[in-house]
Amino acid sequence: MIPVEKNKTYEIKIAALGSNGEGIGRIEGYTVFVEGALPSETCLVLIVKTRKHFGYGKLLEILTPSPDRREPCCPVAKQCGGCQLQHLSYAAQLAYKTKEVQDDLERIGGITGVTVRPAIGMDAPWRYRNKAQFPVGQGKDGCAVGFYAKRSHRIVDTKQCFLQNERNDAIVALVRDFLNEFQIPLYDEETHTGLVRHILTRIGRSSGEVMVCIVLKGKRLPHSEVLVERLQRVEGMVSIVLNVNREKTNVILGRKIITLWGKDTITDSLDGIEFEISPLSFYQVNPVQTEVLYKKAVELADLKGDETVLDLYCGIGTISLFFARKARQVFGVEIVPEAIADARKNAERNGITNAAFAVGAAEEVIPTLYREKGIAADVVVVDPPRKGCDARLLETILQIAPEKVVYVSCNPATLARDLAVLAAGGYHVREVQPVDQFPHTNHVETVVLLSQQKPDDTIEIDLDLDELDATTAETKATYEEIKAYVWDKHHLKVSSLYISQVKRKCGLEVGQNYNLSKSENPKVPKCPPEKEAVIMGALKHFQMI
Ligand code: SAH
Repeated sequence: MIPVEKNKTYEIKIAALGSNGEGIGRIEGYTVFVEGALPSETCLVLIVKTRKHFGYGKLLEILTPSPDRREPCCPVAKQCGGCQLQHLSYAAQLAYKTKEVQDDLERIGGITGVTVRPAIGMDAPWRYRNKAQFPVGQGKDGCAVGFYAKRSHRIVDTKQCFLQNERNDAIVALVRDFLNEFQIPLYDEETHTGLVRHILTRIGRSSGEVMVCIVLKGKRLPHSEVLVERLQRVEGMVSIVLNVNREKTNVILGRKIITLWGKDTITDSLDGIEFEISPLSFYQVNPVQTEVLYKKAVELADLKGDETVLDLYCGIGTISLFFARKARQVFGVEIVPEAIADARKNAERNGITNAAFAVGAAEEVIPTLYREKGIAADVVVVDPPRKGCDARLLETILQIAPEKVVYVSCNPATLARDLAVLAAGGYHVREVQPVDQFPHTNHVETVVLLSQQKPDDTIEIDLDLDELDATTAETKATYEEIKAYVWDKHHLKVSSLYISQVKRKCGLEVGQNYNLSKSENPKVPKCPPEKEAVIMGALKHFQMI
């Protein structure tokens, strides 16, 4: 029996923050998610959706506000999907992120006995982003440029964003006026018609250089000479490019870049190393905290000068060059060819001769090099995208057996999953340091040091019987509920088969046994890592792990 009714109002005490920054409370043991509510608050909530084991409530009134509650400075903070935590004090945001990493390590990775260090925050946590990607579409009165509304692709027309560099406000206004003035067709996601899809900007913090990239479903922008002439007047403008993306996809950029004016890249520097950055290359979005993060990674590796370092998922070679200053040699691997071209130029530009790079998927390049050339390393650094490391890569890292592994992660759930694999292979998690790269959002960046388990190391096994009991007694979401959650949050479809595979992996009971690999049926599909990560996120969300 569900103890609440849809469309009725209840008083709820919020106990915790979920991984999307939403408040979580309980009514007679039934979990209710309330967006905008904070721990310790008592709220009046309208139940808007009920499922078997949990429901969603709309926050009507905060009866006792949390001392950590803050008034968001952004007028569209509620509609926009960009910031999930503006209503929480910055100190409390950092504490929440630290706890999130600790919980994931324990619940998903089964790693206990490690205390996560307090997240390192920013002194001035506003206007920190060096990159903006604004979707463009038809609004009520002309062109809308801004951000997607929460859990949707409706564009919230935004005049200023407090996470972005101020210059973006002027650039967006200028492009918006241009598109309206010349009635340029705007892209419509539903019908896959129209021309202008996104406006991208990048601004070098130290160089002050600005790049603007207009993403088109086509390769010609009518009246582009007028836009170029106007954009040139923006302070620091050095590069104006078009990107061609004709696909019906959520991926923002296509492969083709056409330079309209100026350089093809911009430059920036981190801790005295200069980097050249193409529009297609990944570059961390918060340069102040990136310096903190990379320095921490180097500090944790504690290099003596004679090491061989592998930097996997190396992007434009940022971490590689930080490490090259302290190691004998560094070898970086990255899948985007343009990023590797940038990495090579960056090494040369900085007179760094002990760094080499290869294009390819790390999970293919490294196992091949290990098999064919017996590649060895003292330190392996990985910095994968949100889906984490490929299993084949982790397996090869265990075979290479470096003394240390430094794991830089933007997703604590996949980090925890991968650390469990490395721990099972003989590595010990020594330090875990979150660095806040994304203030006011629910994103968490973490750097972890692992080193080989020494024979005299003790392993702490901490079994709490009460907790085990609690785990078996807790409420569990159904397969349909997990599917609905994953769809709502990620717009991804996951099958019951995949869910059961991930549940089994997490040691949860599974009703049917059809996910067991049967040798007579070798075609049972295996849950791909990106889906595994989102399913794990859902299991965590429902507090099943
Ligand atoms: N270490 C870099 C980049 C980290 S972002 C930095 O700090 O700037 C993750 C990078 O992994 C991206 O550049 C992405 O293009 C790359 N990538 C994604 N999948 C990959 C794979 N399978 N093998 C190698 N690189 C990959």
